[in-house]
Amino acid sequence: MKHIVIIGGGIAGIETASALTDAGHWVTVIEKEAQVGGKLNNWSYLFPDFTPVDKIKSVLQEKCSEKDFSILHQTEVSSIHRKNGKFNIEISGEHQLEADAVVVATGYELFDARRKEEYGYKIYDHVITSADLEQLLLPNGDLTVAAGENPKRIAFVHCVGSRDEKSGNHYCSKVCCITGVKQAIELRKRLPEAEIYCFYMDLRMYGKRFEELYREAQEKYDIEFIRGRLSEASEKIDKSLLIKAEDTLSGRPLKMNIDLLVLLVGMEAGKGTASAAASCGIGCEDSGFLKTADSFLKSNFSEQEGIFLAGSCTAPMSVNDTILHARSAAQEVNNWLLRR
Ligand SMILES: Cc1cc2nc3c(=O)[nH]c(=O)nc-3n(C[C@H](O)[C@H](O)[C@H](O)COP(=O)(O)OP(=O)(O)OC[C@H]3O[C@@H](n4cnc5c(N)ncnc54)[C@H](O)[C@@H]3O)c2cc1C
Ligand code: SF4
Repeated sequence: MKHIVIIGGGIAGIETASALTDAGHWVTVIEKEAQVGGKLNNWSYLFPDFTPVDKIKSVLQEKCSEKDFSILHQTEVSSIHRKNGKFNIEISGEHQLEADAVVVATGYELFDARRKEEYGYKIYDHVITSADLEQLLLPNGDLTVAAGENPKRIAFVHCVGSRDEKSGNHYCSKVCCITGVKQAIELRKRLPEAEIYCFYMDLRMYGKRFEELYREAQEKYDIEFIRGRLSEASEKIDKSLLIKAEDTLSGRPLKMNIDLLVLLVGMEAGKGTASAAASCGIGCEDSGFLKTADSFLKSNFSEQEGIFLAGSCTAPMSVNDTILHARSAAQEVNNWLLRR
């Protein structure tokens, strides 16, 4: 029986572990947090069809309890060395594991919106990120703003920390446009009287049913999309916000008073992926995401033989794309082990 170590217990890591266990391998997942599931633990409903996250989480939990793979929680890899065709893996500076193959599934981290000072995140009370809003959209979430009232006018800003020279992230985070559409619809269901605006540079509805959901947002849920870039937000004495933007279709400057500003934050490779890459000796793209051996035919291979990649540590991706990428990673590992 071959032993495979997976670094990261998000949806990518658990899906890869489950598929490799089904293929008859012995699998160990190393997760730095106390629980598995990664970012999914923080979300409410999933685009494109508003599936409650708990449904996907319970499938993951079932896989963890029913399939015969082990999970080492609150554990990190210190170093990985190759010896006699095997990997010697030192974990949390203490124990050693021996593995035949390694899969890196360390996911992504959220862009820290404080880096865009002009939007006032963590300075003004009613500026929140899309990740914060996910918590407020849970059934017991409190959406009230000043004086316990529901917000009457809400604005979303797209591309916060993505496609942005200043933050150094030139790439598109791919899922934040559709996340904005999902969240705007959820807000409309909860706040039927509110005005809801989305300020965007371009809208990228790349996936199945995304474009339809965007149309629905406008036609059925009366959400207004304004092509424009927000230059700044400032707080007024009553804690409401004044935002300044340029409507890039009409070419006119625009000022608007709002009660809640939601920043659609992008995805970054983050420290967890950087530390796993350093311990394995694998490379990163300029964006910080892990480098695949080939974009078309080897998207699950790192440049080091025997070290494979799964999920959003390679590029921003949705849950659906992550599951598919994880399953193909398991297939590639299995094929590679059979060929040895
Ligand atoms: C605001 C927001 C809303 C979203 N909503 C949706 C949605 O509605 N529908 C949808 O399809 N997608 C959505 N997404 C995308 C979704 O979050 C990702 O597709 C998914 O989380 C990717 O899973 P992953 O396992 O690759 O990464 P992650 O979820 O990031 O999991 C990575 C795991 O690896 C662990 N880890 C990291 N580094 C190490 C290390 N060095 N050692 C050990 N463990 C480590 C982490 O603790 C974590 O458990 C959303 C994204 C954002 C930002
Ligand atoms: S998905 Fe949309 S919001 Fe996100 S970076 Fe790309 S264009 Fe901007």
